[in-house]
Amino acid sequence: MRGAVLYGRGDIRFEERPEPTIAAPTDALIRLAATCVCGSDLWPYRGIQPVARPTAMGHEYCGIVEEVGSQVRGIKPGQFVVGSFAASDNTCRVCRGGYPSSCVQREFLSGAQASRLRVPLADGTLVATPDLPPRELLPDLLATSDVLGTGWFAADAAQVRPGNVVVVVGDGAVGLLGVLAARQMGAERIIAMSRHAPRQKLAREFGATEIVTERGDEGVARIKELTGGFGADSVLECVGTQESLMQAIRSARPGGYVSYVGVPHAVALAGEPLFYSHVHLHGGPAPVRRYLPELIALVLTGKIHPGRVFDLRLPLTQVAAGYRAMDERRAIKTLLWPEEESGR
Ligand SMILES: [Zn+2]
Repeated sequence: MRGAVLYGRGDIRFEERPEPTIAAPTDALIRLAATCVCGSDLWPYRGIQPVARPTAMGHEYCGIVEEVGSQVRGIKPGQFVVGSFAASDNTCRVCRGGYPSSCVQREFLSGAQASRLRVPLADGTLVATPDLPPRELLPDLLATSDVLGTGWFAADAAQVRPGNVVVVVGDGAVGLLGVLAARQMGAERIIAMSRHAPRQKLAREFGATEIVTERGDEGVARIKELTGGFGADSVLECVGTQESLMQAIRSARPGGYVSYVGVPHAVALAGEPLFYSHVHLHGGPAPVRRYLPELIALVLTGKIHPGRVFDLRLPLTQVAAGYRAMDERRAIKTLLWPEEESGR
């Protein structure tokens, strides 16, 4: 089969790779129906997080189960499934406590930008839909696999409740879906921080009530001005830089909640500003598996359309163009149709 392999900075190739096989009796093999490029794929692509060796890329996926290992009970060949980027048993104490992305048996998946994928701990990791979904729902279902699940966690961890004033820092796909999640959770006002017109438009469509284009000190001042001087009840930090995290903490009211879901790069928290901010901080790799059944149901009943973040949709053979468009911020998020699907 063929798939995407990152060799180094800006060097993503679509090339022959070994077919995955069942390696453990708890594995499943799936044929991808759709996959995509994640904002976190851009860190190694940009050389900020160097790759030691050629790396098979991609961790967002949905598709049809082709084969399962001898110990897999709940997942069957022929089912349509969605899974998280973190494989989990869904039975250990950490999983039962709601954090499958820190499961004691966790494995981070990679290699989903291909025709086929091996998924470890299939019974715990995958969620099957009741029927085979129509093709037009594939982008929405694919979004639940990571980007929506992460936006959802961002809103949940920031304690978004009916009546809350919410700020979303970051207008990437996760931030935009954090807006959608906050709307679903009943936020009264959702202030999206964005300076890009197409992203502002999508943020408003997903439920943002206000847009703030300023950043840093000016951004914080603007949030304070819009919230009667107090700051927001809930702030979703969806970037992962020092600047965005400090902007989030300073935008929250004393006693407010700040979530952080972007993989941090060179972030160091300063004790004193944190101490006097009086905020609750909660984040980490999103426990997407916890939310999958609920998110899949919302998609299948047509209540949400998170797949609208995929503003570029290409055959997987053009994966390099897909990375480039996201790197240059010409695309919010690139969906990739695997080879066998492209011709459908
Ligand atoms: Zn577990």
